[in-house]
Amino acid sequence: MDIEIINLRVFNGVEFVARSAKVSGIGRVRCECGSRRDCERCSGSGMREPTDEEIFRMIVENDYSSALEHVVFSFEIHGLSKGNALELLEHRIASHTGRSTRYQSEVGFDFNLPPKVEEVLEKHGIAAEEYKKLALTGAPLPEHLPEAERGLLEEYAALIRASRKAYSRMLELGAGKESARYATPFAMHTAYTYTINLRSLINFFGLRLCVRASPEMRELAAKLYLAVREKFPWISLVWCRGYNSGACPENEVRDSPQGRECPFRNPESSVFIPTRRQVRAGIKLRPFSQQDFERLRERLLERWSHSSGSG
Ligand SMILES: Cc1cc2nc3c(=O)[nH]c(=O)nc-3n(C[C@H](O)[C@H](O)[C@H](O)COP(=O)(O)OP(=O)(O)OC[C@H]3O[C@@H](n4cnc5c(N)ncnc54)[C@H](O)[C@@H]3O)c2cc1C
Ligand SMILES: [Zn+2]
Repeated sequence: MDIEIINLRVFNGVEFVARSAKVSGIGRVRCECGSRRDCERCSGSGMREPTDEEIFRMIVENDYSSALEHVVFSFEIHGLSKGNALELLEHRIASHTGRSTRYQSEVGFDFNLPPKVEEVLEKHGIAAEEYKKLALTGAPLPEHLPEAERGLLEEYAALIRASRKAYSRMLELGAGKESARYATPFAMHTAYTYTINLRSLINFFGLRLCVRASPEMRELAAKLYLAVREKFPWISLVWCRGYNSGACPENEVRDSPQGRECPFRNPESSVFIPTRRQVRAGIKLRPFSQQDFERLRERLLERWSHSSGSG
């Protein structure tokens, strides 16, 4: 897939969230000094004001989320497929401006490859860009491919060519873009300017940084997570829904073929996250290793942001 996040801007930060929490009222915390009379932080009372960072962490961990709405992210997404854009738009608590297929010409549109096509290309060592070139010109594919896989690559390429041709033909015959666009596929690239607050973004990551999410949405989420983390490292406090709340709500899915891909499902592992049902049934928990989780997270981000294949 070709998803790209550009022009990311962050409005407000941890200090502003802490400020808003202080307006609401925030308790004091135990001072590390053990009530030393000369302590500058607590003057010997043993209780001190929390730092902005402590307040922020507490708000995220205790889910006092309305204060997080003051932090806002704006960015542009390019290379998302038109079909998957609908999934993005289901995240309603955000503002978006999309590329118009009524006003913009899609002659020669770019497109994403389905995960299965990417998998076949990878298996046979064919670069995606190389395949795209062949697809568009109708040039023959390498000889050595097994028949069924070759068939898939040829049929998908032919579909894109036919779609582009029908689109252009309609324009030649005097149709408007709003008519020609019916010939475009799910895979066609689109672009969005998106603005979302931190509370809603955490909800988005919670749902989409998960093996349950479609590969393209997961790729979008992973790329966005990496981009956000560069400017707002505090995003590291959150991950999928199971991690964020200590129990995964996907009770049934864990035992499905898709659920078996979940890296948090093994009760013997140091990064086990139980389902809510397992918690209610009183499952015994081992201590969770934050270090192991962080290593795993880096591997998942690497894999999900580079490939749309399974896993
Ligand atoms: C694995 C997966 C599979 C999915 N499959 C399908 C599917 O088959 N069909 C389908 O249509 N969608 C599907 N979705 C989309 C899903 O149902 C949500 O629409 C999408 O994930 C957006 O989540 P959201 O509503 O929490 O986000 P937002 O729309 O951004 O809302 C954020 C939060 O605001 C609150 N909220 C928003 N709107 C309302 C409202 N009207 N009433 C009350 N509270 C509200 C909720 O607390 C919500 O969590 C799927 C999502 C995932 C992750
Ligand atoms: Zn002190």
